Amino acid sequence: MSQPMSRDAPRQSLVSQAEFAQAVADEVALRAALMDADPVPQLLLQAQLSGDTDLLDQARSQITGGWNYMHTLSPAMCETIRERLIATLKQRAQHTPSHHDDLSPAGFGRALSTGVGAPVGDDYVQMLLEEFNAEKVDARSVAWRRTIPEAARARYHVLIIGAGLSGLCMGIKLREAGIPFTIFEKNATVGGTWYENNYPGCAVDIPNHFYSYAFEPNAQWSRHFARRDELWKYLEHCADKYDLRRHIRFQTEVVAARYDDAQAEWQLTLRDTQGIQTHAAGRILVPAVGQLNRPAIPNIEGIQTFGGPVFHTARWDTSVDLRGQRVAMVGTGASGMQVGPTIAPEVAQLTIFQRGRHWCFPHPNYHRSMQAGTRWALANIPYFASWYRALLFWASGDLMHPLLQVDPTWTQPEVSLNAESHAFREKLLAHLHAELADRPDLIEKTVPTFPPYGKRMLRDNGWFQLLKRDNVALVEGGVARVEPGAVIDRHGQRHAADIIVLATGFQATRLLAELSLVGEDNTNIRSLWGEDNPQAFLGITVPKFPNMFLLQGPNTILSHGGSMFFHTECQVRYVMQCVRELIEGGHAAMQVRAPVYEEFNRRVDAAHAQMVWAHPGVKNWYKNPAGRVTAVSPWRLVDYWKMTAALDPSHYRFAASVD
Ligand code: NAP
Repeated sequence: MSQPMSRDAPRQSLVSQAEFAQAVADEVALRAALMDADPVPQLLLQAQLSGDTDLLDQARSQITGGWNYMHTLSPAMCETIRERLIATLKQRAQHTPSHHDDLSPAGFGRALSTGVGAPVGDDYVQMLLEEFNAEKVDARSVAWRRTIPEAARARYHVLIIGAGLSGLCMGIKLREAGIPFTIFEKNATVGGTWYENNYPGCAVDIPNHFYSYAFEPNAQWSRHFARRDELWKYLEHCADKYDLRRHIRFQTEVVAARYDDAQAEWQLTLRDTQGIQTHAAGRILVPAVGQLNRPAIPNIEGIQTFGGPVFHTARWDTSVDLRGQRVAMVGTGASGMQVGPTIAPEVAQLTIFQRGRHWCFPHPNYHRSMQAGTRWALANIPYFASWYRALLFWASGDLMHPLLQVDPTWTQPEVSLNAESHAFREKLLAHLHAELADRPDLIEKTVPTFPPYGKRMLRDNGWFQLLKRDNVALVEGGVARVEPGAVIDRHGQRHAADIIVLATGFQATRLLAELSLVGEDNTNIRSLWGEDNPQAFLGITVPKFPNMFLLQGPNTILSHGGSMFFHTECQVRYVMQCVRELIEGGHAAMQVRAPVYEEFNRRVDAAHAQMVWAHPGVKNWYKNPAGRVTAVSPWRLVDYWKMTAALDPSHYRFAASVD
């Protein structure tokens, strides 16, 4: 067995002189762009390239956070930063690479701490420095590829289920490493959830320059928070750029996966759109199906008798014209929050059935387009995009994690968990009251009874203004039954409707429920997980399921902040180390040791027991009916990054060598 591997140190590559020369080639365009672009990344870049920290020192007290509106830098200071940066870029374009590009952890930490207005800890510095160079470190896997003969790699064919954001990421990294793989995708194209969800208003509520692969930055996002089409196209672009389509079998559903102990391989049963079954086999299995891909369709009495269109947000029927119709929308979660305000102006009547309440808060950038200058700088100025992403990572990463932790000494446990949670609740309440100041009846109906973050925190997409519209009614308590042409609420009142939209979420806890999944010794995954209690070591590996690596598996969804792209990249790097370990060791199989898996899940449960989920008033899709949190991660991003940074082979049992 080889020694524990650690992730290679980030390669601090120097950007070529030519790239700087290109950035300053048109000084008029450069200056115009920088006048419009965010000043803080300019400040940090200037410090990086020049090694001078005097501007950082001057600006420090005027920056209070990582978001681009969290500074009070004067126009004069912005001009100084801009002109110093232009001069530095010009200098850099004329000289061979300077050592200043090569950021030391201390230099990076100092600049970033100034940029986010708070001290950035060593662990964050280490993680973000690696992120900072992500675009440049792909060479690592390419280099490794050269050390292993193709014949050895060929014996480890990887079968990936799903061409969504995690399956694509896995494919990209396997391709770089020269390891054969096939992706099976039930849809006609890539994109997974961002392909399937095309309801009106569908968008991401995490900033895009962070909600994207670190190795594939996109300077052209049109908005800070992109709409669905743009995100889906980004994933399509990745599939094309990395030439993945020829590895993907579209419109092919994996209906069964069985591990053959004797052959040490996974055998799949596949079904095409005609229902014809075929088979495939490979040594490694990577289910990358996500947790939010099976709509939860409520079993509402009489719904078959309705007589009009009824559809779920994730199965939006684009043939139905909503204009002038009476729409009943069931559910007020993240999807309902986006659908409601988008369709309200065009429908005759929107009746919203609210079963539980949700906290939401506004974000100044939520509807803003990206400034042209920032886009130019992202596309043309070396390192600008990396600084931009690092700032966003900090701003939307772990800052809220402390708010989710129970303080046992806290004196107002019925409404909040600790002092920070309480202060945040006050802010949320102030927003709600300000929005509904003229409608006390709606305040009564909307103030949540549980602490912030008890359910997924929503971005206010104009929700309270929506509720005040003349053609909108908010009905509390959910749906009792449906009759022809109407929905009956819990108080027995009838609401006439032409169309029912189910914004009722997903069956998150029933992970892989539709796949017959059988591991070693004929072990069915349901005998380990039951119907709705999925668990995995690091959310990735499961005993008795050799060579199976889950992506976006149990307890990996993020609830306090962060980006699924980041978590996916952590998982993919870990899986790539497992694949390397298998190939380099010539092992037939590896499986996580049961005590390691059990201990990890005990730690997950213990962490969750100290978090907001322990609050008696909290109900959400993160928990299974027994009350165990199976969907979301309790860890900070940086904790998970550390946990997945280095494979420890002693956590695994390895099976005999492949001949
Ligand atoms: P959700 O958050 O689970 O919300 C479902 C809503 O339907 C809730 O209001 C729920 O009420 C209600 N509901 C469920 N069953 C019901 C029933 N039988 N009768 C009446 N009401 C019922 O689902 P979602 O809005 O689709 O969002 C799911 C997740 O997808 C999000 O949390 C998020 O992770 C992701 N998402 C993200 C974005 C984004 O912008 N990034 C957008 C959409 C979705 P209760 O609250 O009482 O359960």
